[in-house]
Amino acid sequence: MKLVLATSNKGKVREIKALMENYEVVPYSELMQEFEIIEDADTFKGNALIKARAVFKALNDDSVIVIADDSGISVDILDGAPGIYSARYGGDDADDKDNLNKLMQDIKAKGVESSPAFYTAAIAIVTKNVERTVHGWMYGIALTEKKGEGGFGYDPMFIPLGYKETLGELSDTIKTKLSHRSKALDLARKVLKTL
Ligand code: IMP
Repeated sequence: MKLVLATSNKGKVREIKALMENYEVVPYSELMQEFEIIEDADTFKGNALIKARAVFKALNDDSVIVIADDSGISVDILDGAPGIYSARYGGDDADDKDNLNKLMQDIKAKGVESSPAFYTAAIAIVTKNVERTVHGWMYGIALTEKKGEGGFGYDPMFIPLGYKETLGELSDTIKTKLSHRSKALDLARKVLKTL
C-alpha cells in the first residue's frame, strides 16, 4: 500500500519510513511541487488534518492515502509552550537550531536547569472516503543544554523518562521504541488495516 506523506521535514520522513517499512512511503514533494500550507488550527490534530486534506486535494487522485504528522514539544515550566508552535518557536524563519536554542534559553530564564516536558504527535489519515486521527506521547525532561547529535529538532535537549541520555545521544532504535511518533503510528497502522 502506498502512503503519501504530507511533509518534507527530513527528520519526520526518515522516522516514518523506518517505522512503516511494510508500506511504500513517499513524501508528497516527490510527486508534485511543494506548496505552503497554513496550519492555523489550535490543536495538533487540527493541524495534521489541515495538512493531510491540503495534500490530498492538491494530488487530485482519489486512490491515494495521505498521512500527515503534526507534532511538537510542550514544556511544563513554560505552561506548555511551544506546543503547536514548536516549528516556529524561534521566529518565522527559524530553523531547528534556532528553535532549540530559544527553548533552552527560555527554560533557563525561569531560573531552572530542566523541566518536565512531553512530545505529542498527531497523525491524520485522509482518503477519498475516510478521515481519521490518532495520537502518541513521549514524556521526559527538557534541559537547558544540548547533548548529542542524533535525532532532529529538540532531541538533543530532551531526556526520555527512564533514561539518563538525551535523544541526541540515544540510538535511533531506542527513539523508535519510545517515541510519540512511533506510538501514534502503531495506531495508524491499525486504522490503515481497516481501510
Ligand atoms: P510540524 O512540522 O509543524 O509538525 O512541526 C514540528 C516541530 O516539532 C518541529 O520544530 C520539529 O523539530 C519538532 N519536533 C516534532 N517531533 C520531534 C521529534 O521527534 N524530535 C524533535 N523535535 C520534534
